[in-house]
Amino acid sequence: MRTLSLLAPMLLAAALPAAADPAFTACVDGLRPQAAAAGIRADTFDRHMAGLAPDPTVLESLDFQPEFRTPIWDYLAGLVDDERVEDGRALLAEHADLLKRVEAAYGVDPQTVVAVWGVESNYGRTFGKKPLLASLATLSCAGRRQAFFRSELFATLKLIQSGDLRPEGLVGSWAGAFGHTQFMPSTYTRIAVDFDGDGRRDLVGSIPDALASTANYLKRSGWRTGQPWGREVTLPEGFDTSVNGRQARRPLSACLARGAKPADGRALAASEDPTALLLPAGKAGPAFLVHKNFDAIYSYNAAESYALAIAHLADRLRGGDAFVAAWPTDDPGLSRRERRELQTLLVARGHDIGEVDGMIGSRSREALKIEQARLGQPAEGRAGQRILRALRDETRQP
Ligand code: CA
Repeated sequence: MRTLSLLAPMLLAAALPAAADPAFTACVDGLRPQAAAAGIRADTFDRHMAGLAPDPTVLESLDFQPEFRTPIWDYLAGLVDDERVEDGRALLAEHADLLKRVEAAYGVDPQTVVAVWGVESNYGRTFGKKPLLASLATLSCAGRRQAFFRSELFATLKLIQSGDLRPEGLVGSWAGAFGHTQFMPSTYTRIAVDFDGDGRRDLVGSIPDALASTANYLKRSGWRTGQPWGREVTLPEGFDTSVNGRQARRPLSACLARGAKPADGRALAASEDPTALLLPAGKAGPAFLVHKNFDAIYSYNAAESYALAIAHLADRLRGGDAFVAAWPTDDPGLSRRERRELQTLLVARGHDIGEVDGMIGSRSREALKIEQARLGQPAEGRAGQRILRALRDETRQP
């Protein structure tokens, strides 16, 4: 019931073209004392909050429980694909001087900084689709985390008030992460730096500010300059894998003594560095030994798959190869280029999947289920090599 007044007010739209939801308007109005206490001037509040309309779609996202869990190999195939590696290498060259200065200031290497940029916003191409203030105001007035989103809303208003952020065209994810680095507003407040020296910390309009702020984030999260994040390893038969996970640390020397070897065959000096064994797909898939810098990357988004994507992309940007061990699947994942090809093949068969954008959403999955069933494959709605090959072959035949 909490969303009723936010979802049902369209009948009033003709009479009240701006904020046509009385409950929402009353809620926003009721935020004034808290906003004032947070240091937001009345004129700032009025200018940016007046006439704001709620966006009920962000409440759906808040409550969305994905029915489809993305396997790690699909996740990585889309995030660390040839396009993102090529784009990242071009940007490393283009911003070489800037990245050198960022490294000197914060101690984080260019490849890691660019890898975060590539995963967070596809190098500044994807900032999100939701008007930021409307999203945060909606989540401040309905749903189960209102107190959290109110402080994010106030942080955004303060960034606008201070002149760091320009309010025009401000968009983000449904939850309020935005800009090149996809910081939440409170993180922005704590971490962002003005690296181009124009007096504003602008993570939307300034690449120097954004890249330096990413490096500052990693530095504050315990980044150790010149140290690796970790590496892929091979484990001998009988290696005790029961102790694994990011929290279960042993000295690196203990892992090596048990027979773990770098998968690329390069020698590894034993040390007392706290090291954790990661098995993202269990014993049958690639294994990794990870160190402190993996934790620093992890703190950016609190998911091991996410941290592994950034770490691996950074390695690829350095010229490293794909993982040595195969993922435990007979149906590997697709790059974004292949996903677009698959979507094009679905459209050619009359499916309405929306935009061909390389994002496999619910409509693409529904179409895949139909095609998989038709072709005698498991109708799981997953976009993998098997269905892509089958549709390609079918297209080639006269
Ligand atoms: Ca600046």
